Amino acid sequence: MNTGCVFCKISEDKIQARKIYQSNDIIAFHDINPQAPVHVLVIPRRHIRNLLEADEQDASLIGRMLIVTTQIAKQLNIAESGYRIVINTNRNAGQSIDHLHIHLLGGRAMQWPPG
Ligand code: AMP
Ligand code: ZN
Repeated sequence: MNTGCVFCKISEDKIQARKIYQSNDIIAFHDINPQAPVHVLVIPRRHIRNLLEADEQDASLIGRMLIVTTQIAKQLNIAESGYRIVINTNRNAGQSIDHLHIHLLGGRAMQWPPG
């Protein structure tokens, strides 16, 4: 738990979120400011600042986060039409919450290159 971290607080049920998946080390919830019809965040419960702070020991955790993301895409019916996953890292990418998270976006056509 990183005091002051909003995603740690969501993990510990100190802040409400529309959770759609929970396990002992991963949770997923709807983004509060959705950028697509489906916009879900998948996070580790443990406070990892971003991918730069992850190491070899986190490989299984991060792999399972991707599997969970895929399962949610199927569950929310955006798998066939297509979806995008995004992991913003540091300032230029627009990382605003310093707790590792996968964005799952779908339900509309995406632009490429991304903004
Ligand atoms: P990023 O800009 O990549 O760090 O993404 C952070 C995301 O967290 C943004 O899409 C925000 O809308 C979302 N967000 C911030 N606070 C909350 C919250 N309390 N519940 C759900 N999503 C949030
Ligand atoms: Zn945190």
